[in-house]
Amino acid sequence: MDQNTKRFLKVQLMWIVISIAISLALAFILPFPFDIIAIIAVFLSINYFIRQKQMKKMGLNAWSFFGSAPGPGKQNVNYYCINCGTKHNQAACPNCGSKLKKAAF
Ligand SMILES: [Zn+2]
Repeated sequence: MDQNTKRFLKVQLMWIVISIAISLALAFILPFPFDIIAIIAVFLSINYFIRQKQMKKMGLNAWSFFGSAPGPGKQNVNYYCINCGTKHNQAACPNCGSKLKKAAF
């Protein structure tokens, strides 16, 4: 195991301990069934938080993580051939073969 993996596991363990501690505290404070709901919410938000941090470390964001999912504004981009104005999404224009195109929202 290298240093990075060890540190990663330590952070993961720390978050698990924190979430268990919060869950126990909530279970004491809140009456049933609100404690269960609160515990689930805490687990989900901590999970989400950890994932966000990991993705940021890898240089990704939530949108690129899902790959094909449309990012904000991404789905509205259209490409038009500069030469003849044909709307297309290919490397070269299917009408005139020009590789020059411009993006329009
Ligand atoms: Zn063209």
